[in-house]
Amino acid sequence: MRVLKFGGTSVGSVENIEKVIAIVANQSKLQPVAVVVSAVGGITDLLLKAGTLAAQKDEAYKDVFQEIHQKHTAFAKALTATDTLVTADIGQLMSHLDDLLNGIFLINELSPKTLDKLAAFGELTSSRIITAAFNHKGIEAKLKDSRTLIKTDAQHTKASVLYAETNQNITSYFAESKSKITILGGFIASTRDGETSTLGRGGSDFTAAILAAALNVDQLEIWTDVSGMFSANPKLVKQAKPINDISYHEAMELSHFGAKVLYPPTIVPALSKNIPIYIKNTMAPEEAGTRIGQQEQANGNPIKGISHISDIALLTLEGAGMVGTSGISKRLFEVLSQQQVNIILITQASSEHSICIGVMEADALRAKTAIETEFAYELSLHRIDPVIVETELAVIALVGESMKSHQGISGKMFSTLGKNNVNIRAIAQGASEKNISAVIAEKDVKKALNSLHEVFFEGNRKQINLFIMGVGNVGGRLLAQIKQQRKFLRDNLNLNLRVMGLSNSRTMLVSKEPIDLDNWESQLAGGEDADILRFRESVIALNQRNSVFVDITANEPVAMAYEEYMRNSISVVACNKIAAAGSYAYYSNLKRLSRKYNAPFMFETNVGAGLPIIDTLQNLIASGDRIVKIQAVLSGSLNFVFNNFRSGDSFYDVVQQAKDEGYTEPDPRIDLSGVDVARKILILARESGQAIELDDIVNTPFLTKNNLESTDVPHFFETLKEDASHFEKLVSDASSKGERLKYVAQLDNGKSSVGLQSVGPDSPFYNLEGSDNIVLFYTERYPEQPLIVKGAGAGGDVTASGLFSDIIRLRQD
Ligand code: ADP
Ligand code: ASP
Ligand code: MG
Repeated sequence: MRVLKFGGTSVGSVENIEKVIAIVANQSKLQPVAVVVSAVGGITDLLLKAGTLAAQKDEAYKDVFQEIHQKHTAFAKALTATDTLVTADIGQLMSHLDDLLNGIFLINELSPKTLDKLAAFGELTSSRIITAAFNHKGIEAKLKDSRTLIKTDAQHTKASVLYAETNQNITSYFAESKSKITILGGFIASTRDGETSTLGRGGSDFTAAILAAALNVDQLEIWTDVSGMFSANPKLVKQAKPINDISYHEAMELSHFGAKVLYPPTIVPALSKNIPIYIKNTMAPEEAGTRIGQQEQANGNPIKGISHISDIALLTLEGAGMVGTSGISKRLFEVLSQQQVNIILITQASSEHSICIGVMEADALRAKTAIETEFAYELSLHRIDPVIVETELAVIALVGESMKSHQGISGKMFSTLGKNNVNIRAIAQGASEKNISAVIAEKDVKKALNSLHEVFFEGNRKQINLFIMGVGNVGGRLLAQIKQQRKFLRDNLNLNLRVMGLSNSRTMLVSKEPIDLDNWESQLAGGEDADILRFRESVIALNQRNSVFVDITANEPVAMAYEEYMRNSISVVACNKIAAAGSYAYYSNLKRLSRKYNAPFMFETNVGAGLPIIDTLQNLIASGDRIVKIQAVLSGSLNFVFNNFRSGDSFYDVVQQAKDEGYTEPDPRIDLSGVDVARKILILARESGQAIELDDIVNTPFLTKNNLESTDVPHFFETLKEDASHFEKLVSDASSKGERLKYVAQLDNGKSSVGLQSVGPDSPFYNLEGSDNIVLFYTERYPEQPLIVKGAGAGGDVTASGLFSDIIRLRQD
């Protein structure tokens, strides 16, 4: 004999009930089967809702009743083609339900006993309809009311089973029964007085296990809407996978900590007879599902699953009078047990100064009152403080029997949560070490589950969530590069890059689902009005793990927004130079926040676009080298100007051409005055360890006073014409010596400077072409022959690829 249980979704539609019939019919060819069914999905909730409304004298209960009535009648009709017997039975059940609700309405009271009567209608009706559906198909099935078999005490809504009588009833009934298929409603039972009782929400699983154990069957099957017990709730963690094999104890821990797929008490009867439990998917019967049994797996992942319980409250009892006073915990637990408060988690600091307990939020107030009444005397003497209650919390738990023989799991768990800015309120580890649990904010549950799942189940796969501000030329190219490389990164680096937010100066978009990179422009155009701070709020509210803010603007308010990103453990990748080259106070504060909140701050593209200049410098410093001197040509615009300026040319024309071809800022004075290069050497000096400001950099201008004092851009160009002889002299002096003009930045002996230099053919700068940049690092380890980084230092594609490299580097954090 076998026992099969089908849950609410499995019997929640005509189509699914057809599947149930096929599965049962197939198995009943080999042996008799007992089929336990739940109420049609959602009906138990509706019944309780109708009862609550009626008890509040709210006539709206009638609408809810109608909904229940219609759903059942429609099912009966579709499955039995209006079999008159069934119609009459369902009609009668619904009329009893109507009477009951009416009675509740009249006396406006809803006792636990009445609640059980009410809730039972779900299973009573579903089992009747399903039996009729079998028979209508010509498959003989017999309906048996489980209330006549399963006996409980009178603790209504969560009754305890009286096993001796129950087992006796079950064995004698099935010994007599000749039916190949017996259908029973789950969840419902009765007391010795014959009153209807129930086994607790989700209790149909338990009904099936009680039958299975009494009949000592060789397997129990729980058919549901997912393909087994998963490594985490598949509705919250997309990457979760079904667990093939799991021990009774592990399954018990997982379900106890919220894996709703199995009602926790179910395990006990199965375990007592060593009956394996299979969790299978009614909608995909071919899938293997999960086997729960005795075995302990020695190999493989020591962690079987991650689960969570929502709606938790944390109660803290503390006070100076608790230290060294014996019996406090005993009194605390006794009073809570008297009040039937279920304690989910306990932690006590070894100082004994405080005890922290986690309970369901619904029990919190009752628990607080009970504790304060019990300790009224100590409270009045201020030996104990009033109980602190914190709500909107959840418990997350890692479960696995062999965790105890592995080291470092809790460390990894807590550091993963910490990195993702999930604040841990309390920690508990079962003495048996089958679980490690932590109390966190409810709002962080999804992020916590996903980041833990990534670390413990997905090898080294890492998901990075990008929020990009500034999607013009460079940003557009970055998106194109990400799109092109995504598969490669997934296959080769185990990296899953998702673009979750975009903004330009007009509109912005922050999305729960990854943005489709095939048509991001149109999606962004349809977004809301752009706003730097609202964008940040949305990114923080979305609360995704491994979030990265990418700044591809040149905008000061955007650079001023980084701090709050970092405080929320969101990394910053910036092409914008304003933060790294701003005041030293701001720069160093960002560096500090970056360390404190584990939020990398990357700005490789601030110097030399995509060239690995800052990364090289940071690696030299980190590995213990010391910078002696840096010499560099770092301006694409100035290179263009001086590579094209020959003796006899007009300097004015060359600058005009550079501006027209987009090699300079709209205001070319920013480039020609050397400010931009000064900012770059400032960043390199800071990264070399110097606490300096922009003013500390010696900037010897090659422009005339007349040029520098120009009032606006057209006027500036005028002054270039006026001072043509000055520029002609600069270039002819150089060429007469066989030298060339280069704009050089340097850091030497702790002093940074920028200025125009005339360099001979021996200089590494002499042959620099186009917009190329070059940096020479002279260090203690490279004293004579410098470490050189050289290549294109400007342009959309290389800048985008520099940003991309920064993003990829983040996978190591
Ligand atoms: P049924 O009505 O068949 O009894 P339930 O809704 O009670 O089904 O349980 C199945 C649901 O349990 C799944 O749809 C899923 O949302 C939830 N669930 C939570 N944690 C897990 C887990 N670790 N593995 C599988 N399902 C889980
Ligand atoms: N119908 C009951 C409930 O919804 C029992 C069950 O589905 O297991 O809680
Ligand atoms: Mg269930």
